[in-house]
Amino acid sequence: MAKQRMLQFVSVDKQMPAKREADDRAHDFLEIYGEFAEAKAEEQAGRCSQCGVPYCQSHCPLHNNIPDWLKLTAEGRLEEAYQVSQLTNTFPEICGRICPQDRLCEGNCVIEQSGHGTVTIGAVEKFITDTAWEKGWVQPIKPATERTESVGIIGAGPGGLAAADRLRRAGVQVTVYDRYDRAGGLLTYGIPGFKLEKDIVMRRNEQLEQSGVDFVLNCNIGEDISFDEIRKKHDAVLIATGVYQSRDLQAPGSGAHGIVRAIDYLTASNRKNFGDAVPEYDNGELNAEGRKVVVIGGGDTAMDCVRTAIRQGAKSVKCLYRRDRANMPGSQREVQNAEEEGVVFEWLTAPNGFVGEPVSGVMVQKMRLGAPDASGRQRPEVIEGADYVEEADLVIKALGFEPEELPSLWSQPQLEVTRWGTIKADFRSHQTSMPGVYAVGDIVRGASLVVWAIRDGREAADAMIEGFDTAAAAVAAE
Ligand SMILES: Cc1cc2nc3c(=O)[nH]c(=O)nc-3n(C[C@H](O)[C@H](O)[C@H](O)COP(=O)(O)OP(=O)(O)OC[C@H]3O[C@@H](n4cnc5c(N)ncnc54)[C@H](O)[C@@H]3O)c2cc1C
Ligand code: SF4
Repeated sequence: MAKQRMLQFVSVDKQMPAKREADDRAHDFLEIYGEFAEAKAEEQAGRCSQCGVPYCQSHCPLHNNIPDWLKLTAEGRLEEAYQVSQLTNTFPEICGRICPQDRLCEGNCVIEQSGHGTVTIGAVEKFITDTAWEKGWVQPIKPATERTESVGIIGAGPGGLAAADRLRRAGVQVTVYDRYDRAGGLLTYGIPGFKLEKDIVMRRNEQLEQSGVDFVLNCNIGEDISFDEIRKKHDAVLIATGVYQSRDLQAPGSGAHGIVRAIDYLTASNRKNFGDAVPEYDNGELNAEGRKVVVIGGGDTAMDCVRTAIRQGAKSVKCLYRRDRANMPGSQREVQNAEEEGVVFEWLTAPNGFVGEPVSGVMVQKMRLGAPDASGRQRPEVIEGADYVEEADLVIKALGFEPEELPSLWSQPQLEVTRWGTIKADFRSHQTSMPGVYAVGDIVRGASLVVWAIRDGREAADAMIEGFDTAAAAVAAE
């Protein structure tokens, strides 16, 4: 029997007791410029040269009409700017906060390319939609007509929720199942609150619930309800379960207390900020306060861990990465933020064991970059005889994520997966090898970005609606 619990939204203030940290939102016009925020957004938007070759737009996965909403903002026509912005993006205020803009829209702004500093596109996008919420322009969805078809969505992350929004706009009946107690996926429990405030995510969840989306939380598909049951209940099913299997490190001493997984550490921190009881945080297991912290990894999750540890009052925070700064996968902007906050990066280092029980240090090998491998990336090589021990009493492993084995977990051998274990789905329709079953987001792409999950969710919803229309037309023609 599923432990069904419908969403219970308490006031945003009660849910988010943690203080907001203005310094982390360097682009937050509202925080920095207060009553002048609108003028600042207009000023930034007015810097857009309307170049006519909008590389920003083509490098945004959602192909947002950036020049159009920048122009409308510059002219002070914010409501129209919001209307244009929300046509292509389901959660513009979220993308405005957490897209790696330096790699997407802003990195391709022609003003940036000509050396004059990008238009701060993400900040303007966020400002437009925050204003829309404040002014009451964002409303629950009221479809013109209700349809009889129903879709079951497994996973309430951005991929699943973007699809839910789009399906409800077409009047389709939607049920979203999630094993967690709150919707939002990694928006809620992965990404730290200093990058994405949780009240921003919760109000979207609330809006979807008010739009008629039925949330069934605390419900683990494969355990509480079988996948077959979900298929029987709905006309189509969307798998949007993300990737949660942490890559591990096999090295002597790696089982010691004090060595933890990044996802557990970040989830505990987010739960604490919601005001939940988190015994592992309170007993110090997942709390960096007063500790010498070492984070292993060079991706964005590692950056979130080091910056969270600083905020928790760690004694020191070091990040070990086996390549150099230029070759790290994480955003350079995030590294710079972390350094400014006091994080020390030990480039070209890799752990090869741990000392102590509980852990008291990481055995570190010094590395250098050797010849390129088949992918063209320089391979890290060990420098013999240069090992040392890095003191640490909390070690956080942030080595990336892999998909869970859904075909076996859900007894669906016909659900085809790639050699990496991600679900095989059509590039445009997102249909899987099983009829009426679609898949989107990280479970298809591998660990990716919120904006790509939103795009996939929207496209899958459109493909489902097209399928329903085709079936209805066929019945009508009989
Ligand atoms: C620490 C961290 C920081 C990140 N920071 C950024 C960032 O700054 N910017 C950015 O663009 N991206 C970031 N990402 C990546 C981004 O969060 C993901 O790409 C995105 O959330 C993927 O969306 P999704 O809908 O596919 O899956 P998810 O957000 O992972 O949601 C999947 C949902 O499915 C549920 N689920 C899984 N299995 C089951 C089951 N069997 N039954 C029921 N429910 C299930 C899960 O509980 C979860 O709620 C970050 C990721 C991490 C881990
Ligand atoms: S969705 Fe992301 S990439 Fe697209 S315009 Fe907004 S911030 Fe830029």
